[in-house]
This record gives sequence, structure tokens and C-alpha cells, in this order.
Amino acid sequence: MAENKVDKKVKTVTKVVKFGGSSLADAAQFKKVGDIIRADKDRRFVVPSAPGKRHSGDTKVTDMLIHIYHTATEDKTKVKEELLKIEARYEEIIEGLDLKGFSLEKDFQEIEQSLMTDPDLDYTASRGEYLNGRIMAEYLDYEFIDAKDVIFFNDEGKLNTYKTEKTMAERLKKAGTAVIPGFYGMGKDGRVKTFSRGGSDITGSIVAGAVKADVYENWTDVSGFLVADPRIVKNPAGIKTITYRELRELSYMGASVLHEEAIFPVRSAGIPINIRNTNAPEDAGTWIVESTGMKPDYTITGIAGKKGFCAVLITKSLMNSEVGFGRKVLQAFEENDINFEHMPSGIDTMTIVVHEDEFLHKEQNVVSAIHRLASPDAVEIETDLALIAVVGRGMKSNRGTAGRIFSALSHARVNVRMIDQGSSELNIIIGVENADFETAVKAIYDIFVETQM
Ligand code: ASP
Repeated sequence: MAENKVDKKVKTVTKVVKFGGSSLADAAQFKKVGDIIRADKDRRFVVPSAPGKRHSGDTKVTDMLIHIYHTATEDKTKVKEELLKIEARYEEIIEGLDLKGFSLEKDFQEIEQSLMTDPDLDYTASRGEYLNGRIMAEYLDYEFIDAKDVIFFNDEGKLNTYKTEKTMAERLKKAGTAVIPGFYGMGKDGRVKTFSRGGSDITGSIVAGAVKADVYENWTDVSGFLVADPRIVKNPAGIKTITYRELRELSYMGASVLHEEAIFPVRSAGIPINIRNTNAPEDAGTWIVESTGMKPDYTITGIAGKKGFCAVLITKSLMNSEVGFGRKVLQAFEENDINFEHMPSGIDTMTIVVHEDEFLHKEQNVVSAIHRLASPDAVEIETDLALIAVVGRGMKSNRGTAGRIFSALSHARVNVRMIDQGSSELNIIIGVENADFETAVKAIYDIFVETQM
């Protein structure tokens, strides 16, 4: 037999690992993180957050930094005292890790100088990640790469994707292994600019996208996503695999583990995210993937929901035959700068579901605009609505999902006030009274997970 001449190059696997604040809150947590990274040589690029809370009454370093910025703008005599407290948190970590000869003294002098002369909110807030990154690089013996040299924002304050990816890919290729602090980059004016809170998740995703990583591991303090909110359902089952689209639906409705914007850079590169638990590294966590042939454990992947919506019900005889009616109604919301969530409709009725907080203080402006633009017969407002999203790729191939949901709700004596099923058959949105919210979530969870009917 002819010898197989195919060049079997061994592909190097690259994992980008991001650690959240609670994973890096003190030296003991840092050690766990060090063990995790050293256990797998493919974990080559590390994105740390700032130290988070060590216990429930504690303060995150980022919050301390934001506070000190405000102090600096009001009363400079108090800056030193507050800065010493932040310094003490880092000192404790450095000592606990026994990093002899390593000091952040110069960095703290720079921070103090900035606070005393030209305080800048983004720069100050970003120092939590910067300093943690410096420690992490020293501890792991990885190269430290300042995020401000590899992440760039454009004029509108949005990520400059092209420049960031190109610069980051080149820089990281040279480094081989590196620590890149999360949460910030460089603004168009050359100053440090941060993402929104929780933004280290986005940095991790950008790094993973730039180096075309095989996986983006996001290490936190829970073993991945749960089918339902543990504050409502006791000990809910975990989600092993979830698609990006399912996750979007669930996080939009309140499920939060990952920053919403963190999905995009890896999603477009087809890189899976693995949510892992620093305190239980043996747990497989949740895989977030583009698409999967894996059957979900249950018909539904997850349930999420929020209270505090309101429904604006618009009635008009022969609405169905009036071209442009919907546009005129939506224009009334647009004119008032209100985002709408859902829009179930009947033949002569149309319902616009909005957030109460966004809507109630403008309600009369909206109602008069609807009358002016669309001349309806009546406009009614109903408040205290909670929305529940039942999400799952498995719903498409299972008959009777909606039937099961509604029979469970009826058994639980929950009145359904609105139903909206997306055409993708990926989710069903149910509106119930705020007061019925928890009962409804429990009932849906029970029917699909506990009894697995
Ligand atoms: N440290 C920042 C925050 O507390 C960013 C992050 O942790 O992702 O929001």
C-alpha cells in the first residue's frame, strides 16, 4: 500500500480564558485560577477582571475606583486615604501569592497623579483590571499586554473591529502566551476607554475572535446556565449546551451570566464559549455553540422572564384592511423614543408591549400620538404584566409544547394574558400578571423538567 503522504501537522489548540471578579477576589482565588491555567497548556491567553467581592458585604475594586474618581472631583484631600484601601487589596494578593520583588508602587503613583491633576472616569475604573493583569502576568510568567495597545474604539465610541483584530492577532502571535486585562481599550482621543460594566466578557470574546481560538472559556462562580432562575425554582437543572440564538432570547429576558455583547465577536468566528466554575473546575459547565446536533435533555432549553411590562391595546374596526396602520401606531412609539418588546395582533386589535419604566411617564403623549396618526376607535393601557420566555431548539420537533405549557399554567391557576410565538419556533412568550410570575415559571419548569411529560 502506498504510504500516506498527507502532511499530518499537529494543530496547536488555543484556548482563551477569562476570569471574572469573584474568581480573582483574593490570593486564594488567584491560586485556583493559576492551577486551572497550568493544568492545560492550551490556555494561552488570559483575560482577568478586577478583584470582585470576597464575601457578600464586600466591595468590588471597580466600585472602589469609581468612588475614588468622584472623590477626586469633589475633595482631593480624601484621595490618598481611599487609594490606600485599594492598594491594600492588591498588596494582600501579592503577599498571598508570594511574589517576591514584585510591586505595583509605580502604578499606584501614576493613578494618584492622574486623580490629583486630571481625574478621568474611564481611566480610573479600568485600573482594577490593569493591576490585576500585571499581577496575573507575573504569577503565571506570561507576557503582559496592555489592552489599550490592542483594543481600539472609533469616533462613535464603538469597537473598531478591523484595527483591533488585526493589531491583536499580530501582537498575540508574537507573544505566544499573554495576559490581556479585560474591560478597556483605547478611545479615538488616545485615552483609555472602558466597555459597559461587566465588559471583561467582551474583551475575552474579542481576544478569542482575534486569535481564532478553539474555545473561549469564561470562568465564573457558577457551573454554567441553569434552566430557570434559582431564586424561583429550587435547585434547577443545568444547561449542558445552548445555541447562541437561544442564549440571546434568554438573556434578553433577564437570564444573566455573560455580558450581552460578548456573544458577537466569537459568534461571527464560530467559536464556542464554555462557561466554567473556578470553584468547581471539574464541572463541564455550559457550552454555547452556533449549532448542535446534541439533543437537549428536555424539550425546553431554558425559561427566563421579567416583571414590569405594560400592554397598549389598540382597537379599530376594519384595521385588517387598512394599509399602513401598524406603521402609524409604531411611529407614535418611535416619536416618543420608546422601544417596543412584542406586538401580538388580532383582526381589529393590535397590542404593543412595552417596559413600564420607559412608557408610563410618557403614556399620554403616546396615546395622543396614536390618535393623531392612526385614528383608532380606542386605546387601552393594561399594566402589571410579566413576560416569560420559554426557549428551546427542541420545541420545533416536539408536538404539543404549547399545549403542555398552557395546561400547566391552567393547573397552577395562572391566567394567561398574552401569547406570542416567534416564527422560528425557538421561543414562546407568555404574558401573565406580575403576581403570577413565580408560580407560572415554577409550573412550566415542573412540567418540562420534573415530570418530563
Ligand atoms: N470590573 C468591571 C466591572 O465590575 C468589568 C468586569 O468585571 O467585567 O464591571
